[in-house]
Amino acid sequence: MLVKEEKILQTYFGYESFRPGQQDTIDHILQFNNTLAVMPTGGGKSLCYQIPGLSMDGTAIIISPLISLMKDQVDALQALGIPATFINSSLSTGEQQTRLRDVEKGRYKFVYVAPERFESGSFVNVIKRIPLALVAFDEAHCISQWGHDFRPSYRSIVPNLKRLSNIPVFVALTATATEEVISDIQELLTITDNHVVNTGFERANLSFHIVKGKDKSSYIRSFLDEHQEESGIIYTATRKQADALYDQLSKRGITVAKYHAGLSEEERKQAQSAFIHDEKSIMIATNAFGMGIDKSNVRYVIHYAMPMNIESYYQEAGRAGRDGEPSDCILLFSPQDVQLQKFLIEQSQMDDASKQNEYRKLQAMINYCHTHGCLTSFILDYFDDTVIKTTCGRCSNCVERQEKVDITEEAQMILSCVKRMGERFGVGMTAKVLKGSKDKKIKDFRLDKISTYGILSAYTEKELTERVHFLIAEQLLGTEEGQYPTLRLNKNSVDVLKGNRHVEMYTAPIPTSDDADYH
Ligand code: ADP
Repeated sequence: MLVKEEKILQTYFGYESFRPGQQDTIDHILQFNNTLAVMPTGGGKSLCYQIPGLSMDGTAIIISPLISLMKDQVDALQALGIPATFINSSLSTGEQQTRLRDVEKGRYKFVYVAPERFESGSFVNVIKRIPLALVAFDEAHCISQWGHDFRPSYRSIVPNLKRLSNIPVFVALTATATEEVISDIQELLTITDNHVVNTGFERANLSFHIVKGKDKSSYIRSFLDEHQEESGIIYTATRKQADALYDQLSKRGITVAKYHAGLSEEERKQAQSAFIHDEKSIMIATNAFGMGIDKSNVRYVIHYAMPMNIESYYQEAGRAGRDGEPSDCILLFSPQDVQLQKFLIEQSQMDDASKQNEYRKLQAMINYCHTHGCLTSFILDYFDDTVIKTTCGRCSNCVERQEKVDITEEAQMILSCVKRMGERFGVGMTAKVLKGSKDKKIKDFRLDKISTYGILSAYTEKELTERVHFLIAEQLLGTEEGQYPTLRLNKNSVDVLKGNRHVEMYTAPIPTSDDADYH
């Protein structure tokens, strides 16, 4: 069995050896076990179903939520001499029917479709009748309501598919999956624990950086100046930001491409193609761009604003360095980003429970921006990665960190201030009380009467805000979830207050942000 798989790897794909996790995944599938592969972007997930698909009889059906990627996948297979096709709404009805007839005749080894295709009776009728090798769910996190990109139509086809008797085995593949997403996928597709192949998330060639308190546009301009020959993506949080940055850079004579959902399909296609084929080396885009894009030489991914959660961040940032070469993932943070993300959550159609869940994830993202620990470890820890090292030695916190100072006493003052404020206020108000601010709200709530009012007046409000965020990020202080999270003492806070635990902070790891007025 193994020999055959390796032979396929070498003869069809021209690769010497398997990457981590590929062989296990392929073995499970070939033994007809439903299998989930969790591998980082660029880990080589496609081969995990392509090799079994080639060595098994029948047609492999690959379900992918994004039709824009199917053509590339199919082109790549065809270029290797493998009969493959896609059927989706981008084709004329006549062309769809022709391809479906060829599927029925067994002419293809691989057929790519979107979940919606299963709503078509004629398609399902053909699928029912032909010999199938496997059915693969690409971007499988989209079938879980706990995933960051849940697609109800993707989930709803699963029970019907499971009823078809001619599907020998199901395969699920994803690059982002928390514990809850993994178990959701397992349950839905009946995948046992021993058939989950999780290679861990670390991408050893990526260096993460947080940049705070700098003018974002001028940072980007000087960065681009220094990286002229390189290809990169700049993600913005909104279409408006993408348009503005695009105009700004274009005016300065920098050649950039732009991609967001507000552009026509033709414009998007052109932009994507110009970027993929290195005609334009810089792509400015919203998160509408990139899922499954196989451009290997992306040297940097800059986030112009903080995204909504770590899942999205890691997936987008992870589009850098798929070729394994050293690459940078830079997040430009400003406090306004937090407000924008809260606004987007509030505006969404989600029910209250889902909103709370989004706020919880947002808080983790905020903590990432404020931690003084290793950024890589923070992310791996978030994904419950079992292979965590304490420091990566590459991220901005590891590289720029300076001398550690003991701030236990200040931390105690901050924590006791939170306590005295009745654990009813957020970061901004707490910083004001510690500073001894004359703000009207402070007077209204009579917070100028408590004993910790002005207790850290030697610091600026900015510095105090940064310290409170640091305590939250280090989990020495808790927050309530929600739009205006209030601060709460937790078990660790009590340890600090009792003097059982010391708090250390790096002196100048990160410049403080320029606007402290946020919760
Ligand atoms: P993913 O879907 O996990 O993000 P892909 O399947 O697109 O990743 O693979 C990323 C790149 O790595 C592709 O260019 C692919 O051809 C290449 N690749 C996959 N497996 C191997 C391997 N065993 N050896 C060398 N390159 C590989």
